[in-house]
Amino acid sequence: MAKLDTVVAEIVDEMRRIPDRGTVASYIPELACVDPDYFGIAVIEAEGNAVVGGDGDMPFSIQSISKVFTLTLALGKFGNRLWTRVGREPSGSPFNSIVQLEREQGIPRNPFINAGAIAVTDLILSGHLPREALGEILRFMQFLADDPTITIDQEVAASEQRTGFRNAALANYMKSFGVLDNPVDFTLGVYFHHCAISMSCRQLAMAGRFLAQFGSNPSTGLPVVQPERARRINALMLTCGHYDGSGEFAYRVGLPGKSGVGGGIFAVAPGKASIAVWSPGLDPSGNSHLGRMALERLAKRMGWSIFGA
Ligand code: GLU
Repeated sequence: MAKLDTVVAEIVDEMRRIPDRGTVASYIPELACVDPDYFGIAVIEAEGNAVVGGDGDMPFSIQSISKVFTLTLALGKFGNRLWTRVGREPSGSPFNSIVQLEREQGIPRNPFINAGAIAVTDLILSGHLPREALGEILRFMQFLADDPTITIDQEVAASEQRTGFRNAALANYMKSFGVLDNPVDFTLGVYFHHCAISMSCRQLAMAGRFLAQFGSNPSTGLPVVQPERARRINALMLTCGHYDGSGEFAYRVGLPGKSGVGGGIFAVAPGKASIAVWSPGLDPSGNSHLGRMALERLAKRMGWSIFGA
């Protein structure tokens, strides 16, 4: 058995035995129903070898992980003009904080906190109907993952649309500063729906290969983004990808990554592998408890931390 197969099998076995599984997010009612016992992992190496373990083929709600892909899409359309709407600094605040927005005139700290991602979604929406923008985001995911079966979980989207008062507050607040161009309801509708895209670890690791491969999609050999842009998106994932647990994630795991409240984490070992893990229970910062632990073990045993051994 190759080393990666052994390491993944060990991690799946170890995660199965851990009794403390964290707390499943409950502020989106539909997510609260997910069983905390799930654990999945998928690792796709640079040469295309895929190692999938546990519940790695079970679809889950990717939530904030979608923000990596909407950022990629928006950068493709607007280039560096995007940075007039959104900053690039870690927030040090909870993912849905409104306080910082007031101090900083409605410009969100980074594209991965909710306010920043809503501003990015608003850019993608400009000049389109909500369903066109959403179709574009979904097709981009399907193209990257090489899998046309990826869909949006309409129940999760509806659940968040019914209860997303905090996001509505953030969006209205930004609108009052002129940071959003479109009607708030339209922007939020697209945002809730792209967060509700449902994917397995395997599909997510496939979709993120370009970030592990200096911008190229290994299926086509063509660039999705230029190497410089891939490097920058990875830098943002490292500094801002785990809410106000980003420093702890860099310290423990040492890989760029983005988590979502559905319990998924997408991570990149540049030049080596695209990785996705999923376990629905979260730690107090809102990151998958077992997911982070699994990535820490994987990075250590494979020697993949970008900071060395
Ligand atoms: N759709 C979720 C929200 O806006 C995403 C949160 C997350 O995964 O960080 O609250």
